[in-house]
Amino acid sequence: MPDPLSLEALEQIEAQHLLRNYARLPVAVASGADVWLHTVDGRRILDLLCGLGVTSLGHGHPNVTMAITEQAGTLLHASNLVHLEGPVRLAQRLAESSLGGGVLFQNSGAEANEAAIKLARRHKRGGEIVSLFRGFHGRTMGALSATPQESKQEPFAPLVPGFRAVPPTPEAVHAAVGDGTAAVLLETIQGESGVLPIDPDTLRAAREACDAHGALLIVDEVQSGMGRTGDMWSYEATGVVPDVITVAKALANGLPVGALVTGPHLLDVLQPGDHGSTFAGNPLVAAAAHAVLDVMQAPGFLERVRVAGDRFRAALEAVPGIASVRGRGLMLAAELDADAVGRHGSAGDLALRLVTEHDVWVNAPAPTTLRLLPPLTIGDAEIDEGVARIAAGIAAR
Ligand SMILES: *Cc1c(COP(=O)(O)O)cnc(C)c1O
Repeated sequence: MPDPLSLEALEQIEAQHLLRNYARLPVAVASGADVWLHTVDGRRILDLLCGLGVTSLGHGHPNVTMAITEQAGTLLHASNLVHLEGPVRLAQRLAESSLGGGVLFQNSGAEANEAAIKLARRHKRGGEIVSLFRGFHGRTMGALSATPQESKQEPFAPLVPGFRAVPPTPEAVHAAVGDGTAAVLLETIQGESGVLPIDPDTLRAAREACDAHGALLIVDEVQSGMGRTGDMWSYEATGVVPDVITVAKALANGLPVGALVTGPHLLDVLQPGDHGSTFAGNPLVAAAAHAVLDVMQAPGFLERVRVAGDRFRAALEAVPGIASVRGRGLMLAAELDADAVGRHGSAGDLALRLVTEHDVWVNAPAPTTLRLLPPLTIGDAEIDEGVARIAAGIAAR
């Protein structure tokens, strides 16, 4: 193999040939192994972000690699015009692990939410989609219209009509949902806005209001699902059962995938021709997802996520400069104190220093917040190492 291109060489080509859409870190990754990313210049970075909640089993998990390799030599794609055992069995497993109804595969989180929005509109024959302030559901026009964040929406107006956003309170949800509502779409813990848990009363209010008006409760489990919170699905801990969940990020440990899963009462809403996607539910991605589920459904896996989460949280809470820690399982946010923010400028500046100078990767979803989405397979020694590196980074100024 030729030498990998340097960071500078990559930046030069990107300046010519990539649209400016992403603000990339000055880090060029060559490979990954378990909790580590290896850069082209030979650094080893402790990955506590998992490419935004995707590689939850770490990099190069042998079961996933083997499943993909084997499937690649068997069949990559044949389309949704035929029957395919891998995707069909995956649908069965996803449904049996959650709402017990039907699955529609997509290729990303945004697409899964688009499909859920279409399902809700078909179910109600129209109707409004209600979402919560600070929620995040993706960047396609429908999902974006359900993502009430000025900076993300404003440049792309006009948005899709028929969306309404309300504060995450029981009163606001009850006031917004009526007979003209098709669905309430929400996260139980708002990930992109900084790991903000939604109050259980608000979730219950959403369930009640949807029941009262024949609307669907859609829980976006794109980030919070697949074991991230210590349950397979975050709604399990809330006592509220949705009509639909949407799934993506960690489902195939890095291959692009999305899915919606419904309760049994919604199996017949979508009819042939209503929706479609050329790549969705392809056998390669399904093979990876089966391997992921095999690992996550093994006895003790989710219990270990909870134990690891408790250890991480306790260790972070003891770090000077961290005022508080929130989240569940291994979906965590550390709130910096005013002194730490003052010394570093912002959590974003600190996160940049952590990855470039302390070889540990987390991100900053808000100016005072660090977010951690570490591999669910992370060991105690790596948790301690990660916290030590974050502490060193905070103390370095
Ligand atoms: C990341 C995310 C999405 C969007 O997923 P994409 O695969 O980037 O389209 C939607 N909802 C939530 C909660 C997410 O965290």
